[in-house]
Amino acid sequence: MQVELKNTTKKLCVIGEPVLHSKSPVIQNAMIQALGLDYIYLCQPVPRGACRQWLELAAFAGYAGFNATMPHKQELVALMDELDEDARLFGAVNTVCLRDGRAYGHNTDGEGFLRALADEEIFPEGRRVVVLGAGGAAKAVVLKLMAHGAEVTVCNRTEEKARLLHRYRPKQIRTAGFTPAQLRRAAEGCDLLINCTSLGMSGTAGQFEDFSFLDGLKEGVSVVDLIYAPEETRLLAEARARGHRTANGMGLLVHQAVLSLEHFTGVGLDAGAMKPVIARALGGKADKKQKKP
Ligand code: NAP
Repeated sequence: MQVELKNTTKKLCVIGEPVLHSKSPVIQNAMIQALGLDYIYLCQPVPRGACRQWLELAAFAGYAGFNATMPHKQELVALMDELDEDARLFGAVNTVCLRDGRAYGHNTDGEGFLRALADEEIFPEGRRVVVLGAGGAAKAVVLKLMAHGAEVTVCNRTEEKARLLHRYRPKQIRTAGFTPAQLRRAAEGCDLLINCTSLGMSGTAGQFEDFSFLDGLKEGVSVVDLIYAPEETRLLAEARARGHRTANGMGLLVHQAVLSLEHFTGVGLDAGAMKPVIARALGGKADKKQKKP
């Protein structure tokens, strides 16, 4: 990929530790290039606990903004001059805009997730949703689903972490463990099942113990996996083989990246047009629609 640099080119980056594996530079530079924007997006390692120093340095160096990945999302919250509603709700910032000497913190995960669901014509209101996992991604998904009228059951290996989520909205969130029997019970009553664990992700050893819980799903229930590599996880393949519609994490990846670039540039973008641009940059096929069984 070639990005033309000028003296006016505005700098963006992703910070994290580790961060060299991040796909954000490839994704953002692909969109920047496709749109002809005068920005460049870099990769910046920042050690844990050094966000205050980084903010000073970034402002001094004239950065227009940056994304944050682990372990900085929580630390940034207290360092922002302004926070958007989701960053406050999730207690995590993944997008920072630097303007006029002020830092504006956003979180694009929840909204990106909702938009990805809407692309698949899935709307959470009144739905009973099972969320597998209670980590950072699950928190954004669960709190956003509830804010949009869903009832959620969180199944997590470490039940205590699921109970931390339950405290946000005790009336709308149930919790359960992660044994095959517990997963089966949760699956039986749901309208939508979403995997927010890292099980099945490329490069990790973890995989579901068995998939018999999928036999408990009603007909017509969609199964969504936040993982986008591989394109089809074992979970999605097993769900599809049982007749369920499935969608992977590409939609979330695209929408949260598009939302970040919109915040940085103030330019409204067409996410549908960006999807094939991002898919190509990542070496995949363009436009993954929900897979029919
Ligand atoms: P995280 O905070 O580390 O949480 C990981 C979750 O997976 C926890 O609930 C953990 O359970 C569970 N888990 C891990 N190994 C397990 C095992 N062997 N058995 C049962 N549960 C296990 O990670 P995260 O940031 O939430 O990310 C979760 C997944 O979402 C990752 O695969 C990530 O790639 C994906 N994601 C995708 C996008 C996207 O743009 N598409 C965005 C964000 C995240 P415990 O609490 O018991 O440890």
